[in-house]
Amino acid sequence: MTGTLTTASEPSGVDPGDAVDAPPGPGWAEEVRALARRRDAVLLAHNYQLPAIQDVADHVGDSLALSRIAAASSASTIVFCGVHFMAETAKILAPDKTVLIPDARAGCSLADSITAEQLRGWKAEHPGAVVVSYVNTTAAVKAETDVCCTSSNAVEVVASIPRDREVLFLPDQFLGAHVRRELGRENMHVWAGECHVHAGINGRQLTDQAAAHPDAELFVHPECGCATSALYLAGSGAVPADRVKILSTGGMVDAARATGAKEVLVATEVGMLHQLRRAAPEIDFRAVNDRASCGYMKMITPEALLRSVREGTDEVHVDPDLAGRGQAAVQRMIEIGNPGGGE
Ligand code: SF4
Repeated sequence: MTGTLTTASEPSGVDPGDAVDAPPGPGWAEEVRALARRRDAVLLAHNYQLPAIQDVADHVGDSLALSRIAAASSASTIVFCGVHFMAETAKILAPDKTVLIPDARAGCSLADSITAEQLRGWKAEHPGAVVVSYVNTTAAVKAETDVCCTSSNAVEVVASIPRDREVLFLPDQFLGAHVRRELGRENMHVWAGECHVHAGINGRQLTDQAAAHPDAELFVHPECGCATSALYLAGSGAVPADRVKILSTGGMVDAARATGAKEVLVATEVGMLHQLRRAAPEIDFRAVNDRASCGYMKMITPEALLRSVREGTDEVHVDPDLAGRGQAAVQRMIEIGNPGGGE
């Protein structure tokens, strides 16, 4: 069994921001900061958030970096501007803090591609297998997991498992394919999940863009449908191998600061461009697919954030038993290689 492919989807049945009455006025950002201070809250924003949300936050980064900041912060409340599994991971790592997400309906098609029940069924088919889960999973799935991984250390995490042990890798098929190719490991089973946004960035778009911009570097997130094409382009010599970089979102910001390139093609969710342009304003960053926007991430609007810091909504709860088991899997992830930052 290789898992069920969840249909790619956008959030449905919800109108982003519809839980509030009116768009905030021009002073909304100051009001958010003042209300956050009064609540002893730190504002965290993921790299895929709307630029206005990124600009009001105390910290912007990838999911793991933000969870670590949440755990280390002296603030008693975390306002997590991202999607629900990220806020859950922050709660797992900081169980004594209040964690708020401005709109609890902000889900994730990748995290939704496997449930804890499906994972238990898959494990029953492969007794003794080691379960490796990407961080884009629910707390209930993390509780069924032996070790979590990020896109930065997925290869090292799987390589650390004795070769005679079967591995169940989930939920992302593109990241799983990348790991299997790197390690040449036959006894690794990959769940057929995907993120509808990243899967929509395909090899043809990447090949066309690389041909149109022959001097550009390529920054590619390993969840992308085009990750295989990027490795092929490098392997075939169509693009020099040192110009193709498979990176987590946090890794992209570091690479932007370090590169000498004048032009960079970016294959991930378009919100990433805002931080890249801030990190290296002299570089021309272009999206491989400028329609690759995550509707879940964009549900965190200024209106929703204002409501969150004003009313203390929506609070994230994780069952303490699940949190304890999930924390062990996340802790193992942090101990192996360089976990970087995940999505
Ligand atoms: S971009 Fe994809 S993986 Fe990231 S939060 Fe959106 S649906 Fe999930």
